[in-house]
Amino acid sequence: MTEAADVLVVGAGLAGLTAARDLSAAGRSVLVLEARDRVGGRVVNQDIGGGKIVEMGGQYVGPTQDRLLALAKDLGVATFPTYDTGDKVLHFNGRRGTYSQSIPKISPLVLVDIGRAQARLESLARRVPTDAPWTAPNAARLDGQTFETWARRNTVTRAARTLLALATEAVFAAEPGELSMLHVLFYAHSGGSFQQVISTTGGAQQDRFVGGSALLADGLAAGLGESVRLRAAVNRIEVNGDKVTAGSAAGRFEGRHIIVTVPPLLAGRIDYEPTLPPWREQLTQRAPMGSVIKCQVSYDEPFWRKEGLSGQATGDGTGSRVVFDNSPPDGSPGILLAFVEGDEARTLGRETADVRRRAVVDSLVTYFGPKAAKPEGYLELDWQQEKWTGGCYGTLFGPGVWTRYGHALREPVGPIHWAGTETSPIWAGYMDGAVRSGERAAQAVLAALP
Ligand SMILES: Cc1cc2nc3c(=O)[nH]c(=O)nc-3n(C[C@H](O)[C@H](O)[C@H](O)COP(=O)(O)OP(=O)(O)OC[C@H]3O[C@@H](n4cnc5c(N)ncnc54)[C@H](O)[C@@H]3O)c2cc1C
Repeated sequence: MTEAADVLVVGAGLAGLTAARDLSAAGRSVLVLEARDRVGGRVVNQDIGGGKIVEMGGQYVGPTQDRLLALAKDLGVATFPTYDTGDKVLHFNGRRGTYSQSIPKISPLVLVDIGRAQARLESLARRVPTDAPWTAPNAARLDGQTFETWARRNTVTRAARTLLALATEAVFAAEPGELSMLHVLFYAHSGGSFQQVISTTGGAQQDRFVGGSALLADGLAAGLGESVRLRAAVNRIEVNGDKVTAGSAAGRFEGRHIIVTVPPLLAGRIDYEPTLPPWREQLTQRAPMGSVIKCQVSYDEPFWRKEGLSGQATGDGTGSRVVFDNSPPDGSPGILLAFVEGDEARTLGRETADVRRRAVVDSLVTYFGPKAAKPEGYLELDWQQEKWTGGCYGTLFGPGVWTRYGHALREPVGPIHWAGTETSPIWAGYMDGAVRSGERAAQAVLAALP
């Protein structure tokens, strides 16, 4: 039996659920087909007992992420500030230091070097139109080099390049050599500026959701009821006259339009009939995901706070590269969120869970001292192993992709529409971008429906 609705949506992440909410609010019938046995996609809560949770996927929200904040407001999900009081730790070149402002205590030469490179990057980023990065001034030249090549040309010290690499890992979960310079500029501009995407207060990591970001997905799904089908991985999309049919693990579904909200890499694994235009097919061949393992390490209490530390740390050694205080709003238990990113995630991802845990905890000892050695709990999620995501935080474009195939990222193919955070000109890669993309796709479908 084939079930029918006006619109089919592939994926029940924030993009798919937002699109479905808007379609349904406009009086259209909708079916959301989700591969996993849960909604939320890259957003997922994990219970840690005592009515508390940690988020194993997307969690932070910041200024200008207005569509995500509006969604939270609608659903009654409050925010609270990320703990950002006290000194930060930088472990660099085998030495540990702390600093109170945003400027680490390192050689003035390196500071000037990195400051100049960042100023150039910000100025280039401002000139990239985020709805069409391939039209930026010198787009082909910027897209013909990696961020690493650019950094080599635009810095004089190795230390400045290492710091840029650490920032790249934190933002993209990838190394500078994997990214097109144009992609880095697009991404920075899409979030306002590079400074904004790397900042805590005033930036993308400013706030957190009380009860966890997954409440947003749960709230949207609750409003959609039976329209959301779990364990319904879509493997085929067939367009026939004015009908589109989705073949899935849970049966066949028919609609007049379909919105595919999965990352481009996974969209490329669906079998389309008729086949997609070659530019779309080739885009999805060139859309890898980043590499991150998100670890939550808990202690009786946030002992670092008493020592005047914010719990934020960055380092160029093994184990975690970026750390935040991720304790619940009441500060109990103390939780350090440790990101293992880029090459380190690839290396540790091949090790046993014990080796990985030791490497992560050892890095916390390097940052915060011996009290970090004996955590009460340790949780991790290796997004590289998540079949229905393929890696995180999102899609990375290497050289040549934006200028050759960028036009195919959002352009619908007949009744097939593309959404998901990757398709958003604003806050691409973030939860806010996902919500915006769902809203945009729903509007396009509503305009096209008779
Ligand atoms: C570790 C980590 C940390 C992050 N931190 C932040 C942060 O702090 N702040 C922030 O804003 N963002 C963060 N992000 C990014 C953010 O989570 C994502 O940008 C956002 O959740 C993406 O939503 P989406 O709906 O576009 O995609 P997804 O959430 O990936 O949704 C796609 C859905 O499609 C499903 N699916 C896949 N293939 C199929 C198929 N064939 N058939 C049916 N269903 C399918 C998937 O299961 C998934 O549910 C983070 C992500 C990760 C993983």
